[in-house]
Amino acid sequence: MAVILDGKKLRDKILEELQKKVSKFEVKPSLAVILAGENPASQIYVNNKQKMAERIGITSQIIRFPQNVSEAELLDKIEELNNDKSVNAILVQLPLPEQISKDKVINKINPAKDVDGFTPYNFGKLFSGETPNVYPCTPKGILLLLDEYKIDLSGKHAVVIGRSNIVGRPVAQMLLDRNATVTMCHSYTKNLSQITKTADIIISAVGKNIIKGEMLKSGCVVVDVGIFKDETGKTRGDVDFESSSKIASYISPVPGGVGPMTITSLMLNTVELFEKSL
Ligand code: NAP
Repeated sequence: MAVILDGKKLRDKILEELQKKVSKFEVKPSLAVILAGENPASQIYVNNKQKMAERIGITSQIIRFPQNVSEAELLDKIEELNNDKSVNAILVQLPLPEQISKDKVINKINPAKDVDGFTPYNFGKLFSGETPNVYPCTPKGILLLLDEYKIDLSGKHAVVIGRSNIVGRPVAQMLLDRNATVTMCHSYTKNLSQITKTADIIISAVGKNIIKGEMLKSGCVVVDVGIFKDETGKTRGDVDFESSSKIASYISPVPGGVGPMTITSLMLNTVELFEKSL
């Protein structure tokens, strides 16, 4: 049976340390979250982020806009937050309502306050092999989890499934920077199982149940980023846990794997940006 990559345990360990660190700051780090529209999942994510920030001692505010908010209003708010010295981290919760250009809104964030690491400045740094102000939260959380279990990446064949800007692309780049040999797969990839069978490490960020034990090489490491509700309403990941955990050496569960690490990274990033701003 595979060892479980336990994101909750690591989250608690990291956040305990972070809480101690923040308690020593006279002025507290401050996170502003912009939430536009009524997407139910976004409401939950944003509330969880605020609760976690409070637990750590980070000051946080959620700035809510209605579904029909204009792009100009959002851009003005970001401008205001960019100039607000009491705010050191800005997060725009995605997805945005369809009348809003995500790119324009993200590009407006001051890269020094870009807590998700999504602005072209920070992305450009990451993809040119330089150090961005912060690394995007989910990829950073995945690497923290792999490091905690001392999983060696150098020279390993890492297969990343999914090529989004929030997970697939940045995590592939970060694995490359750690000297893994990286293959990226997506919906046009042919013979996915032939590729996964050669993987030492699989990072799956798709949102569909696509990985089964028979597609894995014995002893590989499986990180399941996907999270969705199946037809019965049960929370599922991309990976069939039962069959895969018999073949893999390490596997992350859903829930309890990458999810807790994403929010942990957000807290770490908020504090990192705060320290850089001093
Ligand atoms: P996304 O934008 O939803 O895109 C999904 C990716 O999967 C696309 O690149 C798509 O390929 C690829 N794909 C779709 N069907 C495929 C197939 N049959 N075989 C191989 N690849 C396929 O990606 P995302 O935003 O990164 O989200 C992916 C999943 O991760 C979702 O379930 C999301 O909820 C979850 N997630 C979890 C966390 C966390 O903290 N746990 C954080 C972020 C996301 P194309 O590019 O060709 O369309």
